[in-house]
Amino acid sequence: MNPRVYNFSAGPANLPLPALEEAQRDLLCLPGVGASVLEISHRSKKFTEILETAKANIAQLLGLSDQYDVLFLHGGARLQFVMIPLNFLRGAGKPADFIVTGHWGADAFKDAQREGAVNMAWDGKPTKFSRTPKDAELKLDPNAAYVHYTSNETIEGVQFKAEPNTGGAPAICDMSSDFLSRPIAVEKYAMMYAGAQKNAGPAGLAIAIIRKDMLARIPEGLHDMLDYRVHSREGSTYNTPPCFPIYMVMLTTKWLLQTIGGLAKMDEINCRKAQMLYDVIDRSGGFYRGHAAPESRSTMNVTFRLPSEDAEKAFVQEAAEAGFHELKGHRSVGGMRASIYNAMPVEGVEKLAEFMQAFRTKSGK
Ligand code: PMP
Repeated sequence: MNPRVYNFSAGPANLPLPALEEAQRDLLCLPGVGASVLEISHRSKKFTEILETAKANIAQLLGLSDQYDVLFLHGGARLQFVMIPLNFLRGAGKPADFIVTGHWGADAFKDAQREGAVNMAWDGKPTKFSRTPKDAELKLDPNAAYVHYTSNETIEGVQFKAEPNTGGAPAICDMSSDFLSRPIAVEKYAMMYAGAQKNAGPAGLAIAIIRKDMLARIPEGLHDMLDYRVHSREGSTYNTPPCFPIYMVMLTTKWLLQTIGGLAKMDEINCRKAQMLYDVIDRSGGFYRGHAAPESRSTMNVTFRLPSEDAEKAFVQEAAEAGFHELKGHRSVGGMRASIYNAMPVEGVEKLAEFMQAFRTKSGK
């Protein structure tokens, strides 16, 4: 029997099985090296090859031009909440605009406040972070140093379907929970970043993609470890980088390229998976209530509630017994959350949809 469950965790989350299997196979000994990836120098020929392949795979998947630099950084997405204002707000003499559509955007806004003036261009809190704004609702500062937003709010399950119009100011996007899940219009971004632990690899690593002209805006005097120019100049090996997470990103992106066939294909699969769950919700006669407004529904994190907290507890427990794990929503919003990242097989979502229908029928609704 396969001991692996269907894991709907929001992150760290399930990774593609072929990537895990290759890591397992080569864990004691990388072919031709005689040692594990955990044991070799980050400056060795083999590790340099791994890091460069991971970078090249990301560039190929996203269609990055050489105007962009791919950086592997420590500290997860959260350290980027700090590094971005240090590099691009401190000393800019202008405010930064924030479009806040959920928990993570609100935290990024708070962290940036320590470094300079920030402007709330749109706040989704009064509407319980249930939707993304229309461009006409944004109160952008025409002089902004940058506009920050979160493409997919992991906790609320709210996703931008298209990039907001930042009115010419550099757009900086936290893509932690939908990175590499769909094709994007790269040229619309000055910077995008993601914690790796949803679609790309293990936790602790952040992947930052920065348009090179942005580096000229960085003030002097930052600590080297917090200065994007240093990481760019040193090819992400200024200090010892998170080697194993980078190795896993290399394997995960290889899977995306070779097995899935790129981001357009991945997006098609992801939309199909998400639609299956939203259909169950929409056809449940109100038994399941989706949190996000239909036009802002996430393809990555499907959030919904049941008629009562007791019903929600029973749902989580019975789902786990049936092999569907980690469906409890984030403690700050309650309810359910099915995170269906790239590596969640279609079959896992099909089976969860069947379980949801059966649970409703059993509840007499
Ligand atoms: N941004 C988003 C959208 C997230 O989902 C998360 C983590 N769930 C973070 C930022 C913070 O990431 P980390 O824990 O890697 O710092």
